[in-house]
Formats: sequence, C-alpha cells, structure tokens
Amino acid sequence: MIKPLLERLRQGRRTFPFPEADPELPERFRGLPSLDTARCGRDCGDACLKACPTGALSRTEKGVTLDLGCCLFCAECAAVCPNGAIRFTREYRLAASKRQDLLLKEDTLRLASALDRKALKLFGHSLKLRQVSAGGCNACESDVNVLNTLVFDLGRFGIQFVASPRHADGLLVTGPVTENMRLALEKTWAAVPAPKLVIAVGACAISGGPYRGRPETLDGVGPCLPVDLYVPGCPPHPWSILDGLLRLLDRLG
Ligand code: SF4
Ligand code: SF4
Repeated sequence: MIKPLLERLRQGRRTFPFPEADPELPERFRGLPSLDTARCGRDCGDACLKACPTGALSRTEKGVTLDLGCCLFCAECAAVCPNGAIRFTREYRLAASKRQDLLLKEDTLRLASALDRKALKLFGHSLKLRQVSAGGCNACESDVNVLNTLVFDLGRFGIQFVASPRHADGLLVTGPVTENMRLALEKTWAAVPAPKLVIAVGACAISGGPYRGRPETLDGVGPCLPVDLYVPGCPPHPWSILDGLLRLLDRLG
C-alpha cells in the first residue's frame, strides 16, 4: 500500500492549470489559419482551391474565404500558395456558436458565446453529455476521451460523460452522420430530456469533413439536429474542445 502512495507523492499534481494558464501545445500543432487577403492575388491560378481536399476554400471579390467547418488543417493550401497568403497560427481557440461564424476571411474568428442566463442556470455547474460516434475515423472520439484524463480533468468543471441519453443534458456528436447512424442518432436525441444541447466536434460532425458530399452521409449533424457549439479540427485538439465547452458555460472568466 505504501508504494502507490509514495509514487503518487513522487508524481505530484499532473492536472494542467487551465484556463488560468495557457496550454502547452505540441511542436507541430496547427491552429487557426491566418489569411492575408492583401497578398492574395489572382496570379496564383487558384492553387490553394485546387489543392484543398474538402472544398473548404472559395474565391471571393477580396480574396479567399476558408470554411473552418470543412478544414482538415492539412496545410496543403499554405504549401502551394506562391504568395504566402495562408499560414497556420498556434491559436487553439476555435469553437464557434454559429455555422456562419466559421467562414474565415482573415484571421479573425467570432468565438463561441455563452448560453443564455436560463440555460446557464441549468447547465452551468453540471453538464452531462452523451457522446455519439456517428461514423468518422474515431480520432475525434480519442481526443474527446482524453479530456477525462488527469491532465485535462474535465470533471473539475462539472462536465461529465454519461452512458445513457436519459441521464444527459445534451449530445456531443462526432463523425459525418452516416445513413447507417442516422436513426440511432435521432433516437438518442429523442431520449435526451428537454431542454438539451448539441455539440458538433470535428470537421465531419460540422460539415461531413473528408466525407462531404458522399451519398452515404448527411454532411454532419446540422441537417438533423440544432447545433449549439461547433468545434473545428480534424481532429480538434483536446484544448480546443475544452475551450469550446467552457465558453459555452461561461467559465473562462
Ligand atoms: S488546410 Fe484546410 S483549407 Fe487548407 S487545403 Fe487543407 S483542408 Fe483545405
Ligand atoms: S473530423 Fe477528422 S478526425 Fe474527426 S472523425 Fe472526421 S476524419 Fe476523423
């Protein structure tokens, strides 16, 4: 018995002091893209648009718009741009409240706002979520799961994943919602008592991601459920997911 206790003492506290301190991000982390529209000329032959595997980029009058909801953060667009108009910053705060807010024209992003006062009273101190994997590759689920480890310690914010939708305040959905998962998702949603929330995590759940436009998928959660929070990424970093959840619950001071 003494050995585990000594080991605990040796290891000390492992939980990261987020949000008081900024998270430590890995060396190769790619965060919020930055578009320098002043550099974005027409002499490039739309190289970035052609390189993008998901159609996340579109040409506008002023330059290029990047749909963060479709973006895989693969950086192919930055690699082929001859003008250096696209680069990836280390900004991990990416969650938004509205789908429209994910359309990035420069490097400004309208981050998610908190729930209204009535909803905050209900969910602000205790939020129980049922996770639904609606297709996808399971990387998003992995990054959601690590929120339960002691580094992130999701429970200290009063947020918890539960086994039954009947015990949940909302759904956290990953994957593009395949036709095979559609009914299961709808039934799970119906089993959650109102009022309830939907959180779409990852490019797949927001827009279909790499599966966008496939007849086997719904192109994300939006077509069948009302989404309250979008967390972009493929997969989103756990800090991006946690930041989004805390924004929704107005827990970032
Ligand atoms: S980083 Fe995003 S916008 Fe750029 S090519 Fe990849 S998916 Fe497309
Ligand atoms: S968004 Fe990317 S990481 Fe998440 S399920 Fe889809 S393909 Fe996998």
